[in-house]
Amino acid sequence: MKDYLCLMCQEPLKQPPGWLNVFQSRPPLLCTGCRSLLEAASGEGCCICGHPSVEETCSDCADRKKRNRFPPVVQRSLYTYNSFMKSLISQFKYRGDAELSLLFADDLLKLARREFPDFHAAVPVPLHPDRLWERGFNQASLLGQKFPAEELLIRSGMSTKQSKSSGKDRRDNAEGAFTIKQPADCSKKHILLIDDIYTTGSTIEAAALPFWEAGALRVSAVTAARALKKAP
Ligand SMILES: [Zn+2]
Ligand SMILES: [Zn+2]
Repeated sequence: MKDYLCLMCQEPLKQPPGWLNVFQSRPPLLCTGCRSLLEAASGEGCCICGHPSVEETCSDCADRKKRNRFPPVVQRSLYTYNSFMKSLISQFKYRGDAELSLLFADDLLKLARREFPDFHAAVPVPLHPDRLWERGFNQASLLGQKFPAEELLIRSGMSTKQSKSSGKDRRDNAEGAFTIKQPADCSKKHILLIDDIYTTGSTIEAAALPFWEAGALRVSAVTAARALKKAP
């Protein structure tokens, strides 16, 4: 019988006898030890971005509410972006381990159905074409593989690597970076964006903008991980 290894620590996975016949699929992708390092992002928090240990609205979301023409995007994440999640996502994204997306794909769909049951279209946040060419896949599309996902967005005009820029630069770079593929009718629709990490929220905000402008009723988002860098 084939030995399955944990995708992170490479330890052989202990399989309950006969379970392959029961589930008709492969064993879990992570061993129980690694799995226990995942920190669920659920629970009480900011009513907009879901930041934990905040009552009502965090300062970022309050600022955004004041600054923007459109309502802030309500978003929920599966896990916090702790050091384990960081290495997991970098393995997934930069080392091209697309299999890791399966770890989140089902749970993201469950999260979306629970938090945003009335969404009309699920849209992965696209990569800039240059980055897609470098990497060969878009992690957000892989994360959305269990949704009836629609690739409705086009990304352009982002030249610097986002992960290396400051909060302000990110916002400036992201501004105007997304457009909707035509003809997509988004009016009166609840659009659900899918992405890997929620950091400052500026990418989600920029991706939501063309939908608001096209008359969307609501824009929400689900992400695999959320950063907890800033104190609320
Ligand atoms: Zn492991
Ligand atoms: Zn918030």
